[in-house]
Amino acid sequence: NGITLERVREYVWEIPREGDMRVPARVLASEALLEEIKEDKTLEQIKNTTHLPGITNHAICMPDGHQGYGFPVGGVGALDAENGCISPGAVGYDINCGVRMMRTNLTYDDLKGHEEELVDSLFANIPSGLGGGGVVEAGVDTVDEILARGVDWALENGYAVEDDLLHCEDEGMREGAAPEKISQKAKDRGKNQIGSLGSGNHFLEVQRVTDVFDDAVGEAFGLEEDQIVVLIHCGSRGLGHQTCNDYLRKIEQQHQGLLNQLPDKELAAAPAGSQLAEDYYGAMNAAINFAWVNRQLIMHRTREVFEGVFDRSWEDMEMDLLYDVAHNIAKKETHTVDGEERELYVHRKGATRAFPAGHPDVPKAYRDVGQPIIIPGSMGAGSYVLRGGENSLDLTFGSTAHGAGRLMSRTQAKNEYWGGDVQQELEEQDQIYVKAQSGATVAEEAPGVYKDVDEVVRVSDELGIGDKVARTFPVCNIKG
Ligand code: 5GP
Ligand code: MN
Ligand code: MN
Repeated sequence: NGITLERVREYVWEIPREGDMRVPARVLASEALLEEIKEDKTLEQIKNTTHLPGITNHAICMPDGHQGYGFPVGGVGALDAENGCISPGAVGYDINCGVRMMRTNLTYDDLKGHEEELVDSLFANIPSGLGGGGVVEAGVDTVDEILARGVDWALENGYAVEDDLLHCEDEGMREGAAPEKISQKAKDRGKNQIGSLGSGNHFLEVQRVTDVFDDAVGEAFGLEEDQIVVLIHCGSRGLGHQTCNDYLRKIEQQHQGLLNQLPDKELAAAPAGSQLAEDYYGAMNAAINFAWVNRQLIMHRTREVFEGVFDRSWEDMEMDLLYDVAHNIAKKETHTVDGEERELYVHRKGATRAFPAGHPDVPKAYRDVGQPIIIPGSMGAGSYVLRGGENSLDLTFGSTAHGAGRLMSRTQAKNEYWGGDVQQELEEQDQIYVKAQSGATVAEEAPGVYKDVDEVVRVSDELGIGDKVARTFPVCNIKG
């Protein structure tokens, strides 16, 4: 594809600056992952990103990077918050798509024999799929409150305990949320989806811990081998999607000048300091709160399902939130650049915050070991828990990968796989129980459509941006 790529050192590749690029682009990958990254438009997209005003140091592609809308999934771009810009496409359509992991004190032995009952009950009780319906049915007034207050709303209404807030990025409430900057249409889409998984790539997975690589950090995170944990992956549903769409249109209308300078319209950005940049930031922060409440309500319902299946209270099963972390966001953060403190809009799209030990934004319980990072693999492979590595602030503005990353498109996946066969194979070969709204979803999300999560995590660990703590393996999985 004619893109020059130079090796900086092991796992670090650079597209050198040329033409209108403002900074070089970097790709963090092993040779094997790089070959996969070269298969689609990822390199072209990360290169295009370097044209955004205010981009600082490098545009960075994570080891799980693949092609996305304008900005690659697995991309990090830190744009100056005074002289740069903010880009909805570099946050992603699913604002605050993210993951949370809940611990339990159950072991795999406690669960054996209950898998089918558990997966059926989760599927019956947790709203999923394209259609409407959520854990909470409410009006736009409630949506407004959720947008403004995040998980604090859930606490007040009995869907959360104090401890849940303490173990969530931003304590489950993003400052600077502006519900009035979210359109009526977006709120109308949101009101029937409060506490719902959605479809496709979103899932709830019961897993068992198979390996703890770092005993001290594992202990701080409350993880041990054979323990049952629950992983929840979803975002802000139609509300976030509509918001992204609304602001992309507004940028096209109001900031054609900047748009015309960019090599790809999908990178549309609002200049820092403009009214539209402020409006989008406020709306995005509100949608972020909506997504946190979404995952909180699903976790709350999961606790109830476990209570029904195991006939014990969730407190007795110690079903505590390990951590909730976003992987589609932008945040105004202060970073040291060339010895100077700078305010940057750090865009992480398909990238996870990975703050090291000692960082003030790491919850107190984990301050000494680093922020938990949750990296799902696939419904047939493992997933990982990492901790923020000591090189992350220098190399990636405190970020790492967010998953294994897709190898093929959904259309291609449907040609390669048949949902029913995938489901049967998982159950017979690996005792993994999957239930989905449609067979097509299972085919689109077959383990073979994803890259090798072990390799992605190995690169993160070797670079010291996110260090391996534990690995999990699926037991039951529900999908939209
Ligand atoms: P995304 O946010 O990009 O849709 O997905 C994040 C990551 O989740 C994907 O890159 C993939 O590695 C992982 N993933 C997708 N489906 C599943 C699943 O059913 N179970 C687990 N554990 N991981 C999944
Ligand atoms: Mn999502
Ligand atoms: Mn996601």
